Amino acid sequence: MKHDGLRLFEMMEEMGHEQVGFFHDGPAGYRGIIAIHSTRLGPAVGGTRLWKYANEEDAIIDALRLSRGMTYKCAVAGVPLGGGKSIIIGDNTVRDREKLFRAHGRFVERLGGRYITAEDVGTSPSDMELIALETSYVGGLVGKGGDPSPWTALGVSRAMQAAAQLRWGSDDLRDKRVMIQGCGNVGHHLAKELQAAGARLSVSDVDAAKAKRLAEEFNGEVVSPDAVFSAEADVFAPCALGGIINDQTIPQLRAEIVCGGANNQLLGERHGDELEARGIVYAPDYVANAGGVLSGGADLFGWTTEKVKEKVLAIYDTMLSVFEIAKSQGIPTYKAADHLAERRLREGVDQI
Ligand code: NAD
Repeated sequence: MKHDGLRLFEMMEEMGHEQVGFFHDGPAGYRGIIAIHSTRLGPAVGGTRLWKYANEEDAIIDALRLSRGMTYKCAVAGVPLGGGKSIIIGDNTVRDREKLFRAHGRFVERLGGRYITAEDVGTSPSDMELIALETSYVGGLVGKGGDPSPWTALGVSRAMQAAAQLRWGSDDLRDKRVMIQGCGNVGHHLAKELQAAGARLSVSDVDAAKAKRLAEEFNGEVVSPDAVFSAEADVFAPCALGGIINDQTIPQLRAEIVCGGANNQLLGERHGDELEARGIVYAPDYVANAGGVLSGGADLFGWTTEKVKEKVLAIYDTMLSVFEIAKSQGIPTYKAADHLAERRLREGVDQI
């Protein structure tokens, strides 16, 4: 592997990583990276991604970026966990899944609990069962912990109410039109929350059948995928991919709030600055979508459903704190979220 060009240690220093491990098991066809960004607040949590990258550098950079994102998400959510991420280089044509994921499980076990994994893009609860044959440091098992997406969606709806409070002086979403991009797990549960709050819905998905189903269930309007940004809406709710707030899409936006469940919504920091300059309220993604990670508290800390709910509902107050920091320091909301996360990393969070 060529590290000269990558300047790995410089990147670790810049981004604040504790540890990046490279693991290999020939017979299992396993090549994996486990990045631990921080265990300052508690064991590092973050999913295992199975993905075919264009090259190894891209895989390493993704592991570094995603693990840091997990640290910030946990810190802002006030949960005593750190940030990590694993990448297994490969794709779903892999021949022997059991060998592959058991190899991964053995490497996770060797980290002795500094890192706890779960599912992510390209992996499923049944893969987690294979990992669990080798280590107990894994969540998201079949029939345990449950689907995080209803919690993610509940948190996003609370974040949206906080953004409405800032933008319109009231957190009432009644009759506000919300454009949901992505009718998958999060999009579906978000539609349910928003319908209960009295919002009007527009929905869009590259899978037209999914959009149609969601629109029928929640009395929404279907918008074609290329018209989502310019569609008439009060709130734009990205629930599909990252990087969708960019130079091409920002000028099209008609919504006054951007708040959704997708990770890494801003293509670059300057796109957060641009939303700010246009007076569009951006509810930072990792603050809004922390409900999924909070629901992991059931598995990790034995939280009751009531306790998980209380924590997820509190995303409203966290989001208001972010807006307050942004206002008092005269900075965009995405920077304010980072400041809050960094403060919690310095000062610590309540232990469970
Ligand atoms: P999902 O795969 O169930 O749904 C994603 C949907 O987006 C799919 O229906 C897909 O067809 C659609 N889509 C893809 N590209 C699109 C496009 N260009 N326009 C419109 N639709 C498009 O995934 P999910 O679990 O609902 O997660 C959605 C997003 O939220 C992801 O970015 C994920 O990383 C993030 N997220 C999810 C959770 C969770 O609890 N599931 C937690 C935190 C963050």
